Amino acid sequence: MGSPEHVIYMDNNATTRIAPEVLEAMMPYLTEWYGNPSSMHTFGGRVGQAINQARQSVANLLGAAPEEIVFTSCGTESDSTAILSALQTYPEKNHVVTTRVEHPAVKNLCDNLEIFTGRKYHTTRLQVDADGSIDLQRYKDSLTDETAIVSVMWANNETGVIFPVEEMARIAKERGILFHTDAVQAVGKVPINLKETAIDFLSLSGHKLHAPKGVGVLYLRKGTPFIPFLNGGHQEHGRRGGTENVASIVGLGKACELAGAKMEEENTRVRALRDKLETGLLTSIPKSLRNGHAEQRLPNTANISFEYVEGEAILLHMNQYGICASSGSACTSGSLEPSHVLRAMGVPFTAAHGSIRFSLSVYNTEEEVDFVLDKMPAIIAKLRELSPFWDENK
Ligand code: PLP
Repeated sequence: MGSPEHVIYMDNNATTRIAPEVLEAMMPYLTEWYGNPSSMHTFGGRVGQAINQARQSVANLLGAAPEEIVFTSCGTESDSTAILSALQTYPEKNHVVTTRVEHPAVKNLCDNLEIFTGRKYHTTRLQVDADGSIDLQRYKDSLTDETAIVSVMWANNETGVIFPVEEMARIAKERGILFHTDAVQAVGKVPINLKETAIDFLSLSGHKLHAPKGVGVLYLRKGTPFIPFLNGGHQEHGRRGGTENVASIVGLGKACELAGAKMEEENTRVRALRDKLETGLLTSIPKSLRNGHAEQRLPNTANISFEYVEGEAILLHMNQYGICASSGSACTSGSLEPSHVLRAMGVPFTAAHGSIRFSLSVYNTEEEVDFVLDKMPAIIAKLRELSPFWDENK
């Protein structure tokens, strides 16, 4: 592969490039404004003000109040903080509701609650249908007086499928149950107005919306009982100890401003590119199929299965042309297990193994889409020739 300029980057659900405006906003806080925001002097105070400005920008994008924004180190930390806080708040409750398609940040925590809490939990993992959607009646039926928290992602990282979290939160609230949503993939791509919802906790991550890696947010609705995950200093009003990652927080604030200002326009552009890519692949490559609901989906994500070939082999061939995408989620690549998301949707093994996630951003161009459309049919045809399972007459 050549220099990074030759990369065709279609792996934006794994991470995104930092927007130039974001980097520009960050630079002073990596160079001359290095004070500690907690210091008494004016030099540090100015840094504290920059954090508060970023807090306001994040709040504006989410339709929240600035006091409801807690800066963290990543989406994973926000997820753990929300769920473990709810469980500690209600030690007498022993039930958690989530889905079978959560990101490992929620899935692995829910699989190991006993290790982290020392208590036994019963976890309901809601099934999804072939489109990756949830049955709301089954969800309602799953809630009990023992349920301490519901944690359901806003949008799926592998398929882009969007869950009706606003309605699900309202249903939880009627039962007096706390509701958390992992909105790491949704923020910046889906309009969000938390004031109008019953969501208690929301997680987001900077590096999915053109801010740097290593910064996240936990939205914490005013009045929601809360027990911090990281104890220490009084930072974030005692809700998250640790000296703030100032430059990244400032960058995240800028990224939220940009996302809020351009969301509709960018979504329209990105959706058109995604649709061209998806339709082109599905029509030019036999035995290919889309995974995930056609409409209830992020505008940037296309998850396509090419039957009878291995996703990893496809990625290696794409890599030779500098095309970056993912098979399953980035966090599970390296293992040959088909994705738990596609398995939950009932995608047959022969298709789940050959699934590729293309996730676009506003930095992609039509020329890039055309290039990928030009290369993919030959890659798949070549791999199928080598596949013992492939029979073109099937
Ligand atoms: N949740 C979802 C849905 C994600 O896609 C990711 C990252 O891929 C995470 C959580 C984890 O975020 P972070 O990398 O900031 O810990």
